[in-house]
Amino acid sequence: MSTYYQPRRYAPSVVDSTPEGSSLPVVVVGAGPVGLAVALGLAARGLEVTVLEADTAVSFGSRAICISRHSLEVADRLGFGEALTRRALPWVGGRSFYGDREVLRFQMPHDAHAVRPPMVNVSQSELEQIIVDAAEADPRITLHWGAPVTGLESYDDQVLLHVDTAAGPRTVRADWVVAADGGRSPLRELAGLRLQGTSYEGRYVIADICWQCDLPTERMVWFDPPSNPGSTVIMHRQPDDIWRIDYQLAPEDDAEAETTEEAIRARITKHLAWLADTVPGHDAAAAADWTLEWHGFYKAHALALDDFVHDRLVFTGDAAHLVPIFGVRGLNGGFEDADTLSWILAAVVAGDAGPELLDAYARERHAGWEQNIANAGKSTLIMTPGSDGYRTTRDALLGLAVDHPEFRHLIDPRQSSATHARSSVLTLATAQDDGLVPGDPLEDRAVLTAAGKESSLHDLRGAGFGVYAVAPVPADLPAIHAIRDRLADALPREHVTTVLLGGTAVADAGEVLVTDAEGADGTAEAWGAAPGEVVVVRPDGLVLARGRAAALSAAGDELAERLAGRGEPVAGVPVPTTLTPEQDAREQVWLSLSDALDATEDRQDLLARLALVLGTEAGPERLRTVLADLVGTR
Ligand SMILES: Cc1cc2nc3c(=O)[nH]c(=O)nc-3n(C[C@H](O)[C@H](O)[C@H](O)COP(=O)(O)OP(=O)(O)OC[C@H]3O[C@@H](n4cnc5c(N)ncnc54)[C@H](O)[C@@H]3O)c2cc1C
Repeated sequence: MSTYYQPRRYAPSVVDSTPEGSSLPVVVVGAGPVGLAVALGLAARGLEVTVLEADTAVSFGSRAICISRHSLEVADRLGFGEALTRRALPWVGGRSFYGDREVLRFQMPHDAHAVRPPMVNVSQSELEQIIVDAAEADPRITLHWGAPVTGLESYDDQVLLHVDTAAGPRTVRADWVVAADGGRSPLRELAGLRLQGTSYEGRYVIADICWQCDLPTERMVWFDPPSNPGSTVIMHRQPDDIWRIDYQLAPEDDAEAETTEEAIRARITKHLAWLADTVPGHDAAAAADWTLEWHGFYKAHALALDDFVHDRLVFTGDAAHLVPIFGVRGLNGGFEDADTLSWILAAVVAGDAGPELLDAYARERHAGWEQNIANAGKSTLIMTPGSDGYRTTRDALLGLAVDHPEFRHLIDPRQSSATHARSSVLTLATAQDDGLVPGDPLEDRAVLTAAGKESSLHDLRGAGFGVYAVAPVPADLPAIHAIRDRLADALPREHVTTVLLGGTAVADAGEVLVTDAEGADGTAEAWGAAPGEVVVVRPDGLVLARGRAAALSAAGDELAERLAGRGEPVAGVPVPTTLTPEQDAREQVWLSLSDALDATEDRQDLLARLALVLGTEAGPERLRTVLADLVGTR
C-alpha cells in the first residue's frame, strides 16, 4: 500500500464581508508555509489574524523537502518544532558522483554544541499540515479555506480584498495585508508589480517514488551517470520510504514527451537498476519494486520584487522572491522572512513603531535574497549550467575533481545557511569585525542552567529579545538591566530574557544563569567575546548589538531609534569569505573562463591560444607536467 502523504480536505469557508466602518487588523493571503508562519508569529504577539487560502487543502506533491537547522529554530519559536522534528529525517552530508566515480563527499557543520541537525527531510505537504494544525489550535487565527482573493484595492491606510467564498463574492477590509500567495502571486499581478531578475535554462523532472531500500538519508547527486548519460540525477530520502528523484533534461529533449508517466518510469527504472548493480546489498528484484507517486517539472528562477512593501500591502516568501532550488533556500529563506516580518509588523500594527520599520524588513530581506542568489546561483551553474561555456567548464571541473581534490569545493552544493543583516538599519554599528558581528544570525548552542537543566541560547529567550552577558561581574548588572529595560520600553510586545553566561554577578529573579553544556568557555570563544561584553539578540535571532555593557547602555537612545525603524543603514562589516585564497582564485578562474568560452565563436582556438600564453608564463616544464597529468584525466 502506498505511504504517500494525502492531504486532509477542508470545507470551503463562508467569509463575511467586513462591516462598513470597520476593518480587520491583519489579513494574510495564502496559507502556504510562509503565510502560516507569519500568522503564528503575529498571533504569538497577541494579534488577531485572518488567513485567506484559495485551496481546500495543503499542497500536494513534491516541493521543498530539505528543511535547514535555522528553519527548525524558527519552527521551535513558532511552536511546531517538536512535531516537525518527530516526523522529519535528519542528515548531515552527501556525495556527488561523476559517471560512477565519487567526486565529492561533504559534511555540513555539526559541532558538539549544536542543538539541532543541520538539515532534515520531510515533504512540504506534511510540513504545511503540521503548521496548519498549530494555526488551528491558536484561537487568535481564523483560517478560511477555499477563499481565493480575486480583486485588490490598495490605499495608503487600508486594503480592500475581493474574495470568492462558498457563499458568493465578499469584500474584506484590512488595515494590513500580508501577500504570501506564492510564486505566481495573484496579489502581485493585481497590484501591477513585476519580479525582476534571471530565469535559468535547465529543466528538471521531479518525481516522488515509494521504494524500500537501505540507502542512507543524505544528498546524492550523479552527474552524467551510466543510467542516464548526459543528465544529472539527484536523490533524497523522505520519511516512509518515499524518495525524491530529480533529473535534468537535455536541451534537445522534448519536455512534453519526457514528462509522460511512461518516459519518467523508464528513466527511473534505468537509474534504480543501475544502482542495484553498483550498490552492495541491492538486488535487481528490489530495484524493480517501486511505485511512481507524483511527478512534476521544474525550471530555476532568481527573481524578486524591487520593494516588498507597497503602502499597506507587504509581500513575503515566494510572492516576494524566487531562488533556484539548488541549495534549498526557497522555503528556508521564506521562514527567515516570516520570522523577521512577524515582530516588525506586530510592532507597527500595535503602534509601537511607525511604518518605516517595515522598510527595514523590506531592505533586509531583499539583501537576504541577494545573499541566497549569490550562493544558489553558483550551485545552479554546476547543477544546470545555462550555456555551452559553463557546461564545458562544469564537465571539466567534474573530470578534474576525480583525481584533484582541490577542485571539489567548486562542486560543493553550498547548502542553505541563515542570511545576515550586517548592513541593516536595525543593526547597531560596531568596530567589531571578527567573531560574532552585529547583523549575524546567532548560532544556537547547548547550555546548562544553574539548576542543571539542559537548554540552549535560543530556547531560553523563546521568541523575544535576548540580552546575553559574557562572564559579568556585579558592577556590570546596572548597565545590563538598563539595556533590558530599554528594549522592553521600545517594543513592549516582546519579552526580554537576560542570560548571564557564567561570571560572578548574581542573577536576579528574571535572569537565567547558564554555563556551556560542554563545560568550557565555548560560547565566549565562538563569539570572540571578552568578559563583560553583552550581545543583544532580536526576536528573529539576529544580533542587534554587541559591546561592553556600559557602552551599550549608553547607546540606549540609538538602540530605541533603530528599533523604531529610524536611523541610517550602517556600512556593514563585509562577511569574510570561507574560501582560502587558492579556492577563491580557482572560483574566479572558473567563472572568467566560462564567460570567455561563451563570448568566443571559436573555442578550440581560444583554448589553444590561452594555453600558449599561460604555458609560456608558467614555463615549459610546468606545462609538460600538467599536460601529462591531464591527458590521462577525463
Ligand atoms: C520542485 C521544488 C523543490 C523545492 N525544494 C525546496 C527545498 O528543498 N527547500 C526549500 O527551502 N525550498 C524548496 N522549494 C521552494 C519552496 O517550495 C517555496 O519556496 C515555498 O513553497 C514558498 O512558500 P510560500 O508560502 O511563500 O508559497 P506557497 O507555498 O506557494 O504558498 C502560497 C499559498 O497561497 C495560496 N494562494 C495562491 N493564490 C491565492 C489567492 N488568490 N488567494 C488566496 N490564496 C492564494 C496557494 O494556494 C498556497 O497555499 C522548492 C520548490 C520547488 C518547486
